[in-house]
Amino acid sequence: MKNIRQAVILAAGIGSRLKGVVDNKPKGFLKLGEKPIIEESIAKLVRSGVTDIVIVSGYYHDYYDELTKKYPFVTIVKNPDFAVTGSMYSFYMARERIRGDILLLESDLIYEYDMLQVLQNSVYSDSILVSGRTGSGDEVYVGVDGDRIVCLSKDIQKIKRLGGELVGISRISLDLYREMVGLAKDMFDTSHLYDYEDCLTDLCGHRIINYDFAEKPAWMEIDDENHYKKALDTVYPLIQERDKAISIKKNVERTVLLNPGPAATSDSVKYAMVVEDICPREKEFGELVQGIRRDLVRIVHGRELYEAVLFASSGTGGIEACLTSVVPDERAVFIIINGAYGERMQQICDGFGIMHIDYVIDWGEPIDFKKVETIIIENKDAISHIAMVHHETTVGILNDLSSVSDLASKYGMELIVDAVSSFAGIPIDVTKLGIHYLVSSSNKCIQGMAGVGFAICNIESLEKTASLKPRNFYFNLYQNYMFFSKKREMQFTPPVQILYALRQAINEYFIETEEGRADRYAHMYKVLTAGLKRLGFKFLVEEKFHAKILTAIIEPRDPNYDFTEMHDFLIQRGFTIYPGKGAKEDSFRIANMGAISYDDIEEFLENLEAYLTLKNIKLS
Ligand SMILES: *Cc1c(COP(=O)(O)O)cnc(C)c1O
Repeated sequence: MKNIRQAVILAAGIGSRLKGVVDNKPKGFLKLGEKPIIEESIAKLVRSGVTDIVIVSGYYHDYYDELTKKYPFVTIVKNPDFAVTGSMYSFYMARERIRGDILLLESDLIYEYDMLQVLQNSVYSDSILVSGRTGSGDEVYVGVDGDRIVCLSKDIQKIKRLGGELVGISRISLDLYREMVGLAKDMFDTSHLYDYEDCLTDLCGHRIINYDFAEKPAWMEIDDENHYKKALDTVYPLIQERDKAISIKKNVERTVLLNPGPAATSDSVKYAMVVEDICPREKEFGELVQGIRRDLVRIVHGRELYEAVLFASSGTGGIEACLTSVVPDERAVFIIINGAYGERMQQICDGFGIMHIDYVIDWGEPIDFKKVETIIIENKDAISHIAMVHHETTVGILNDLSSVSDLASKYGMELIVDAVSSFAGIPIDVTKLGIHYLVSSSNKCIQGMAGVGFAICNIESLEKTASLKPRNFYFNLYQNYMFFSKKREMQFTPPVQILYALRQAINEYFIETEEGRADRYAHMYKVLTAGLKRLGFKFLVEEKFHAKILTAIIEPRDPNYDFTEMHDFLIQRGFTIYPGKGAKEDSFRIANMGAISYDDIEEFLENLEAYLTLKNIKLS
């Protein structure tokens, strides 16, 4: 299940049995340590990854209002009728603020941090936290049947099979919350004294609500003076001791990204980012960077003739670094454009006043190499470099590198290739193809995290740029290269954790092998396009030009079709698709890059078909 980012704390109640312990204050402002227990709870929620906390206040609500000054991520909803309503009414009052799955807590609880982790890592979308027996005298017992709850009651006689005691921390999906609100509305017609536990009991007969069990967690609800004393003497010290020793454990739900990058990553790549803090100026880190540079070159068979220059940037940063650092002032770059990324190179040149000659083709159409040669001949003296996109991700077309490379060498020009979305997905040999600069990023077919742009540079070409007057500072290729060579470290602060993930992703690439990765992608593409055709979809680009990493699909004309609705339907089922842009016909895009398999593609197709059937969309 996804990690939960929102919590709701029910804090409206009076706490009449706590007179003498907390007077003229809400129960949450009881103190056992340095801070009121509500603030300790807030700190634990934050530690567990919660970023938005809604507190429903009532009794002495001014105290809670004060909290929002200290914690900007806390908002308050008031239940003015707190004296005559049950906890479900407070929960109901929060309905405008609840946007997704939540953790639900009570304000008079003290608990150890690990209990939040249990729910954060739960396999269930709706789960009530249940503990072993505490003997507190005020227990709510949880009756269970297998892995679901069937009853919540203070009367143990009513329980057939005891699962344990209700803690008062629950994981509630938006869907369950909506059902609770629906039922509560009906109940309020007769009485507002309705508690959320009762609501759960009323619902769990017809809808599955699960539970997570913790045998001996340290927790307590503080309702009276005896509880308070017990908390001070035993439970609170135990909580403090345990919280000191507990480390963060986090499961991550898998989602299938079918957008054209950042691509889905393996869990091992995700977890590779969790490392001890390290100063990137240490030798150990310098070696990590050196190894990455060496292996990025190796992926495209650059041998000792190439060097990789890394930037803390997205892929565009790498492109900008190349164009601005290698084209001399008095010469021009010839840009071949058949999509948005070709156009982006044009925009970069315009931004820096770099002369460029463009060959603009309809997005989705292949390059006409005769035309390329004609333009080259016409501008032979001006052009120093040719720039092109390998896999034009706007439409999924694969541009032929070798034909352009032949022309470049024939006319003595250097070649800059945007291979952001093909590097490590399609085998490329920069030496054989005579590519002088090849750019990619850490988050596409190499399957790492976003944050590193890089250029694989022919050393001889790069060294020639030493004499050019720099147009920029941060993104200057030669300067960065010199810094690497001399100091064996990146010139500016590197994205440390992203580089650890990239190291892992590169290793996983070599385990899968160049051929293995290309085959997996090609297989996914085959399953995808066969399935799409079976459903009746048409492609934007002629199939023989497909890069086999991304497919642009012409949007159905059926009036029932709506991209946003289809997107939302699929994302709820774990699949992220992507809109099209700027092509000759309206399209949407499905990529098959990243740490995904053809089983994912099969499952995606089933869901896509389910959407079409649901909306009765006809494809012809
Ligand atoms: C993704 C991509 C880029 C770079 O995009 P960023 O958002 O800067 O990472 C450049 N070119 C192509 C072909 C791409 O697919």
